[in-house]
Amino acid sequence: MSNRIINFNAGPAVLPLDVLQAAQEELLNFNNTGMSILEISHRSKPYEEVNHEAEANMKELLGLGDEYRVLFLQGGASTQFAMIPLNFLTPGQTADYILTGVWSEKALKEAKLIGQTHIAGSTAEGKYRRTPQQEEIQLSDKPAYVHITSNNTIYGTQWKELPSFGPVPLFADMSSDILCRPFDASKFSLIYAGAQKNLGPSGVTAVIIRKELTENSPKTIPTMLRYDTHASTDSLYNTPPTFAVYLLNLVLRWIKAQGGLTAMEARNVTKAKLIYDAIDSSNGFYRGHADKDSRSLMNVTFRLPNEELEKIFAAESVAAGMSGLKGHRSVGGLRASIYNAMPVAGCQTLSEFMKEFCRKHG
Ligand code: PMP
Repeated sequence: MSNRIINFNAGPAVLPLDVLQAAQEELLNFNNTGMSILEISHRSKPYEEVNHEAEANMKELLGLGDEYRVLFLQGGASTQFAMIPLNFLTPGQTADYILTGVWSEKALKEAKLIGQTHIAGSTAEGKYRRTPQQEEIQLSDKPAYVHITSNNTIYGTQWKELPSFGPVPLFADMSSDILCRPFDASKFSLIYAGAQKNLGPSGVTAVIIRKELTENSPKTIPTMLRYDTHASTDSLYNTPPTFAVYLLNLVLRWIKAQGGLTAMEARNVTKAKLIYDAIDSSNGFYRGHADKDSRSLMNVTFRLPNEELEKIFAAESVAAGMSGLKGHRSVGGLRASIYNAMPVAGCQTLSEFMKEFCRKHG
């Protein structure tokens, strides 16, 4: 479609064109109901099918079986920052957090409101340019869980190898890289992700959780903040964000049709390489924020020689049909968010634009 531009927004972000068109096609009459999916009850059979299919698709893509549940909740990843310690940080226990950016700091801040915490590792000192080495991580004695952020949206870093701590339950915020590559999901007791980057629109948060963690939430915490409430009702305790779950399911179907996580990774590696190559071949004109071995497949962050050039770059990129490249204020510079739905051609255009800009101004 000629009036769609190349969308590098960090989230909400680009969605697959096929998904948008599928939603458009059935918007007025969903599955022969004579109504749109927006207009039908969350307790109706057609919606329950969507809800169940979304859970099944997510588990299939992650290679998970009956020992996991997938919940579709509201309140964004930010509500998970609080729900996790409310449910799993009981008095007398300590929860360990590994800090790799602002989002992990925010997760820690919520846990501190609820119980005792320990910073098991942090790369704050180097302005979050990398993720820690396993040997830099010091767990507390018998932590209730360890929390990591797998991809740091603002800094453009990503754990190349996801860590593992034996029997200690591992929890991860995968908001900005879930389903971008194959990984052993069974090492995680809980994974959560706001949908608005790799899964669909804003308004729904996916929580992939080991079944036994949904069985005994402390009785003292409010109903809506308990995992057992949502697991025992198939995420239908109250009215869920039906349209967001529906779109998320279309995105999961799309990932499956593309060939699943292996195909996603191959595409994402190709895409990221196009932009990192433009940085690395610029003789220092572009400076990546992330250390090379921590570079993200999802968010590419870079600076130019000065802020004036960064402004010109941002303005000219818009004129060239691209959007959303201005970086986050805490890092400055530029950021290209290239989630699963970004086509290879979009990264090619940016890479060529960067090389041309460097020739002109370098
Ligand atoms: N975690 C990460 C890694 C994020 O990138 C974001 C949003 N950019 C959040 C958490 C917060 O998500 P939400 O807005 O859904 O609360």
